[in-house]
Amino acid sequence: MMTEKRKFPRRNIDLEAQIEMADGSILRCDLSDLSQGGVRLKVRHPDTLPEQFRLKLSSRLNRWSRIVWRTADEIGVEFLAAPQAPAEEAERRSVLIKCPSTGKNIPTGIRLTCADDLNKITLVRRFTQCPHCKAVHGWVPSDAALEPAPHVPGLAPQDHSGWPA
Ligand SMILES: [Zn+2]
Repeated sequence: MMTEKRKFPRRNIDLEAQIEMADGSILRCDLSDLSQGGVRLKVRHPDTLPEQFRLKLSSRLNRWSRIVWRTADEIGVEFLAAPQAPAEEAERRSVLIKCPSTGKNIPTGIRLTCADDLNKITLVRRFTQCPHCKAVHGWVPSDAALEPAPHVPGLAPQDHSGWPA
C-alpha cells in the first residue's frame, strides 16, 4: 500500500547512550532524538525499565531521567534536576487518536507514565496506521486523548436486565 511520505524528516543521530540501573548494571541503547528537555531512546524491552534512572550520554555527561512514554520499542524521557516520587502504576494510560473518516478511536501504541504527561509527547512519531479506514493519519499531541481509566474490579457496571421490577 502506498502512503504519504513523511512531511517532517527525522534527524538520524546515531548515538549510543547508557541507562544506569539502580543495581549499577548498564543497559546500552540508541539515541534516536535529542531535544533540550529530553531524549527518545530505542530500547529492546521498554516495559522492563524502571520509571526513573540515570542516563549516561557520554563519559562526562549524565542526567537523571524519567520515562514519559513507552511504545513497543522506544521510550521518551525527560531530564530531571533530581529524583522524583514515581507515579502510581495504575496511572499508566494509552494514547488514542480519533479517525477523521470513521470517528472511531485508534490506539497509537504509546503509553504514558501518568496522565499529566500527555502534553510531553512531542518527541513521538506522529503517524499512526488506522485499523478502521486503513489510512495513515498524521497527528499532533493536541489531537490525542487518553483511554478511559481502567476498570476497577468489583466496580464494573451491573447488568440490570435480570433485576426484579
Ligand atoms: Zn482512519
